[in-house]
Amino acid sequence: MARTKMALHWKIMIGLALGIVFNAAWGPSTWAALGVDHPTAFIKSQPGVVPILPDGVEAVEDLDTFAGRDDDPLLEDRAPFQMTAAQIAAYELETIDANQNPSAIAGIAWYVRRAIVLVGELFLRGLQFITVPIVLFSLVAGTSTLKDLAKLGRVGGKMLGIYITTTVFAITIGLLLAGIIRPGEWIPDVQAERLRAMAAASGADEAAVAPPSLWQFVLNIIPKNPFQALAEASMLQVVFFSLAIGLALATLPESTARPVASFFSGMSEVIIKIVEFLMRTAPVAVFCLVAPIIADLGFGILRSLAVYSVCVVFGLMLMAFGVYPAILMLLGRVNPVRFFKAIAPAQLLAFSSSSSNATLPVTIDCLTKRLGASKQVSSFVLPIGATINMDGTALYQGVATVFIAQLFGLDLTLMQQVTIVFTALLASIGTAGVPGAGIIMLTIVLQSVNIPTRGIAIILTIDRILDMCRTVVNVTGDAMVTAVIASQEKALLTEDELKHRREEEAAAEAGV
Ligand code: ASP
Repeated sequence: MARTKMALHWKIMIGLALGIVFNAAWGPSTWAALGVDHPTAFIKSQPGVVPILPDGVEAVEDLDTFAGRDDDPLLEDRAPFQMTAAQIAAYELETIDANQNPSAIAGIAWYVRRAIVLVGELFLRGLQFITVPIVLFSLVAGTSTLKDLAKLGRVGGKMLGIYITTTVFAITIGLLLAGIIRPGEWIPDVQAERLRAMAAASGADEAAVAPPSLWQFVLNIIPKNPFQALAEASMLQVVFFSLAIGLALATLPESTARPVASFFSGMSEVIIKIVEFLMRTAPVAVFCLVAPIIADLGFGILRSLAVYSVCVVFGLMLMAFGVYPAILMLLGRVNPVRFFKAIAPAQLLAFSSSSSNATLPVTIDCLTKRLGASKQVSSFVLPIGATINMDGTALYQGVATVFIAQLFGLDLTLMQQVTIVFTALLASIGTAGVPGAGIIMLTIVLQSVNIPTRGIAIILTIDRILDMCRTVVNVTGDAMVTAVIASQEKALLTEDELKHRREEEAAAEAGV
């Protein structure tokens, strides 16, 4: 009897869970036991500058009382190596190099960690290296096979309609939640004052990139040189280029179009095959991506931003487990449990990689192979979604904007909230599906309603983890719209049909 194989998503889940456990278990105290008192510097092979605490001060959080100052929440739960240069200067502390005598085991741990990071990076590179080709090949193939232009218009119209409506919905949920929970007001005044000072000191104003104007944004959709767009992975431009070729192909006479179209669809099959190879390594890779993330901030600051983070995560869960299942059932008559089971590997990967672009090949694979949506619809709807549809990012931008406004004591008028909906919609469309892109585009939203962009520095400290969560929703949203459209277009297999197809494929494989 054949051995029953564990499903891929369970394996990835185990990899992820082990990574998280490992990450939590191996902390600064583990390094300290190995003679390393400044782990972040040690990992980067830099000198580990830490302050010497004065006699009579046991822990960093006692510095303020020792110096006869007000309680400073930003010192709470901080190890000496986590103090910022500004804090060290404020208390006029002397410093030493903390990593002078690392043990031999610390040296080995350094190499093992580096190797783990490398494996994670290799996997991400593997996915990144197929991102541009898959958008190009599958989008051209998808568009050109939606032969009749009326159908193309119908599918395209529905797709844009649902993408835009769900994004507006997500921003509104974000604004409402932040308006009701008021995370900015949960922070005591002293602490809020300090957070603002810290943001000012970190100079986020200078760091903020000048956002492109709306005119420039629209103009940039058309690449001057499509090959440059491909080479630079400018996804919106790649989407435009692929749509243009696909549409032109769809209107050419069959005899001219066929060889070109079969080249593109053949190439997209090739890329999907590469994805399948890569995914076999996903459980290990996911462990390697999550295990070495270093939490370089004290818990004090996490606590102060906890209500804000809970607000974002709660909103994201509302989208994923409330809004999406409702749309799936109402518009697509798709069973949400079946849907979530099918897309689990893509969600887990989105969480570990924080990149919807890198996850795209796996999302396509999940929708076609595990859910049974047609290649035609998936390869048209998903690449566009990965580029323009970011509900998680939009929701997060809504919450972040209101949170920062509350911190600065600014009240938002109704008109300003409408402006936020509009700009966050555009900002999320323009956000690249790569780690950390959403917080850069947040500048546009803040500027549109005159909220100081230096507020970004405040939330930057916990952005990494929120990025992981919002990317899951970004990817789930694309998959949901694909499932709904496939079902409406009668391009979604039933569970029985899918099972039957799997059996046939297995038999064909065994037969050769
Ligand atoms: N990392 C997100 C994504 O790839 C974008 C963001 O930063 O919000 O979908």
